[in-house]
Amino acid sequence: MAYDQKNIFAKILRGQIPCETVYEDDYVLAFEDINPQAPVHVLIIPKGPYENMTEFSTKATSEEKAAFIGAIGVVVKLKEIDESGYRTIVNNGDDSMQEVPHLHIHVLGGRRLGGLLSSSV
Ligand code: 5GP
Repeated sequence: MAYDQKNIFAKILRGQIPCETVYEDDYVLAFEDINPQAPVHVLIIPKGPYENMTEFSTKATSEEKAAFIGAIGVVVKLKEIDESGYRTIVNNGDDSMQEVPHLHIHVLGGRRLGGLLSSSV
């Protein structure tokens, strides 16, 4: 399926919708989640039009991949959760209940985060 240029994160990247920026470089934007699930909840997105991790991991350039992973380290240090611990989550497609069809890493921390999944079924 073609990348949806009208998704909410594409609009944030175009400056059509505001966000609270945590970090930005040539390849990535990191911003506060609008509905935080933990004291720290930041979303890191590539600036390129990648719907999910499958698209990104198979089509992104080495520079884009390095920047995307590198941004995790920058963000957790900026938010001071690098020592207390944190969780990264990437939802991909229907079974994961991905809501926004633009690749994003959730970075969660600032409290005990509980089990990996809400249900084992
Ligand atoms: P997903 O379920 O796709 O992995 O997560 C989408 C995330 O995007 C959710 O955590 C949701 O709160 C966040 N989100 C949805 N719309 C907006 C928005 O307009 N601004 C920001 N900052 N976050 C959003």
